[in-house]
Amino acid sequence: MDQILVTRSSMPDIEEYTNEIKDLWDSHWITNMGVKHKQLQKELETRLNVEHVALYCNGHLALENILEALQLKKGGEIITSPFTFASTTHAIIRSGFEPVFCDIDPVTYTIDTDKIEALITDKTVAILPVHVYGNICNVEKIDEIAKKHNLKVIYDAAHAFAVSYKGTNVANFGDASMFSFHATKVFNTIEGGAVCYHEDSLEQRLKDLKNFGIHGPEEVAYVGGNAKMNEFCAAMGICNLRHLDEEINKRSKVVARYRELLSGTDGLKLCPVQENVTTNYAYFPVVFDKAVFGADRDEVFQKLEENGICARKYFYPITNAFDCYKGRFDPNDTPVALDISLRVLTLPLYADLALEDVDRICEIILSLAKK
Ligand SMILES: *Cc1c(COP(=O)(O)O)cnc(C)c1O
Repeated sequence: MDQILVTRSSMPDIEEYTNEIKDLWDSHWITNMGVKHKQLQKELETRLNVEHVALYCNGHLALENILEALQLKKGGEIITSPFTFASTTHAIIRSGFEPVFCDIDPVTYTIDTDKIEALITDKTVAILPVHVYGNICNVEKIDEIAKKHNLKVIYDAAHAFAVSYKGTNVANFGDASMFSFHATKVFNTIEGGAVCYHEDSLEQRLKDLKNFGIHGPEEVAYVGGNAKMNEFCAAMGICNLRHLDEEINKRSKVVARYRELLSGTDGLKLCPVQENVTTNYAYFPVVFDKAVFGADRDEVFQKLEENGICARKYFYPITNAFDCYKGRFDPNDTPVALDISLRVLTLPLYADLALEDVDRICEIILSLAKK
């Protein structure tokens, strides 16, 4: 039997892609903000209905760049979630800030907004929440707290491309949002990312920062790095964007099947459908309660693996428990995040996952339930 991986990249037909990149052989302009880059940027600004989009070679460097571009006080504290991919916490630390970990909400797994204010000190400069699994943070409450304490808000929206809340695309919340267009995400440019933001003055700074700080032919204004999106990646994005709605629609069918087969099972916790949210069906996390269900997360993971099905312990470990941060943070400070990380499994999910495969995956999981 073929292996089922946790995800599979969306790709256009090869003819569509080769057609899209043909111009590049005429111009020989294959990076440095060429026509494909400009076109994708425009299309995303329209699609996400946001003032500014800056494109990047990946989401991680997009996050590091916006943290730098906001010119926050170095060494300042940034309140964030440990229930995320390594990138979020690493970006904070690599950019010279101190992460302060806030626990998560036990239902949506996003930052627990009732616990943010107690963590604010005179060193706090920003809040960096994560729309984890595409679940939208309590953006209203975060906005209120940020205004009251004069803090910047940068969302890690890597999971939330094309998600909207009350009719507003998530790219519009906070001071800025980072998206990842990595191969494993709902929308990909092979590797890639973006920052969406409102403030006009950030445009030039972001442009300079991703290109060695070069401001003009004879002026280097910042100690920048290199984080530009090349033309081949932008062309992939242009193609994939054409099929995004269709891909999301296919994902919705996979998720509906999972929900149909798994919801109501004692000891399995699924994320509830969020009110007023148009989702992208990015992930399907399940949290296991061994005492009630009959098997724990690791047993389910193992059993799926034996059957050639690759689920993912996402997110385990949480970032404040990473080896590289040993002794620096205590994961027990965020007990909900720690508990969920030990019990969560994200199941295979991609547009072309066959519903029969979903049936088989669920059958294997349910075979472990208490009789
Ligand atoms: C994928 C991801 C990133 C990093 O994005 P890259 O494009 O891979 O650099 C950051 N945060 C989260 C939550 C992610 O899932």
